[in-house]
Amino acid sequence: MTLQTPASHSAKTDDAVWASIAQEEERQEVQLELIASENHASKEVMAAMGTALTNKYAEGYPGRRYYGGCEFVDEVEDLARNRARELFGSERANVQPHSGTQANMAAFMSMLDPGDKVLAMSLDHGGHLSHGHTKNFSGVFYDFHSYGVEPGTERLDMDKVREQALALRPKLVIAGASAYSRPIDFAAFASIAKEVDALFMVDMAHIAGLVAGGVHESPVPHADVVTLTTHKTLRGPRGGMILCPKERIVKINSALFPGGQGGPLMHVIAAKAIAFREAQQESFKRYAAEVVANASALADGLSDAGIRIVSGGTDNHVMLLDVGSVGLSGAAAEDALHRVNITCNKNLIPFDERPPMEASGIRLGTAAITTRGLDVTDMGHLAGWISEILRSPEDEATIKRVAGAVSELTTRRPIYA
Ligand SMILES: *Cc1c(COP(=O)(O)O)cnc(C)c1O
Repeated sequence: MTLQTPASHSAKTDDAVWASIAQEEERQEVQLELIASENHASKEVMAAMGTALTNKYAEGYPGRRYYGGCEFVDEVEDLARNRARELFGSERANVQPHSGTQANMAAFMSMLDPGDKVLAMSLDHGGHLSHGHTKNFSGVFYDFHSYGVEPGTERLDMDKVREQALALRPKLVIAGASAYSRPIDFAAFASIAKEVDALFMVDMAHIAGLVAGGVHESPVPHADVVTLTTHKTLRGPRGGMILCPKERIVKINSALFPGGQGGPLMHVIAAKAIAFREAQQESFKRYAAEVVANASALADGLSDAGIRIVSGGTDNHVMLLDVGSVGLSGAAAEDALHRVNITCNKNLIPFDERPPMEASGIRLGTAAITTRGLDVTDMGHLAGWISEILRSPEDEATIKRVAGAVSELTTRRPIYA
């Protein structure tokens, strides 16, 4: 089989665009990607997205389409759905959401009426904008309330969540976050939802790959609906997905199409199918375990170097560094690390006193660097470099030396070898 790889860039005439694409590919190779929501998809996953499937309209679902000529894309979507169900042990799957936010939109539409009360994690404490940000559709159409972590422990206290749910009586309780480094107790959430007669949804966008790899408890047995992204720890193409028991799938399907989307991106669904097969391999289980081992080694190294980690460490792929502890804002820390080709993002920490554009934290994740083969020994070095830069962000000699060490490592561990 010959794959049309995007890297071959054959028949290129649009030099302006291809030049920028080439530079972006080079940027990814030479930088250490610590943005916790990013990863490096395989060549085969990327190849599927550069195929003629992008030309096909396929509104509807396999066997029930609004367009002719869907016989082969039906096969592709069936492969994706069946692999997703096997991978996560879910009765049903919808693989059409264009993104995690679109998946959430369909999930909410299938369970809520406008104005209904929802209880979800506070955005300031690690939640996601699709969980009730005032400018997001979620905050515009539904009545979102939030729970957060406790001062001191910086962890969720399920007794407090229960008290809030009892007082609020929401129609839906949501668990799941973008910047929470501790395991989420899905059984406790489910029992709280049951007690207040609410539905329970888990948004496992960040941890889907850890769940697939068996290193984080699965929410599937506990939740009425599970949404996720396919491009974060799961390492597939950019996109979303919804998992649910069979009695919910009809409503979910119609909330997604025609409710919130038109034609599905069949080239991306093909890439999702490929990624799910990759995630079923033993090698992916090892990958997921290494992601967690690397995160914990990195957090240990940084703590030993005197940088405070929110909640004291991590049990998954992500950690929040309180860079106020070394006298920097999150924005300044992000800039300083960028100068030595270490990429991350500034992030609010719980009870942050700085505004979001400055923030007191940076968020680091190990999904992408683990994909390119970095191990716990490398994490020791990386923790040292990060700490040196954060302590001497303006020192030219330090910047030069660390940038050189980063370059040596990225050259030794190419992404697309
Ligand atoms: C990343 C993320 C999403 C949405 O992802 P997009 O694909 O960017 O829309 C949703 N929920 C959580 C918790 C996330 O971290």
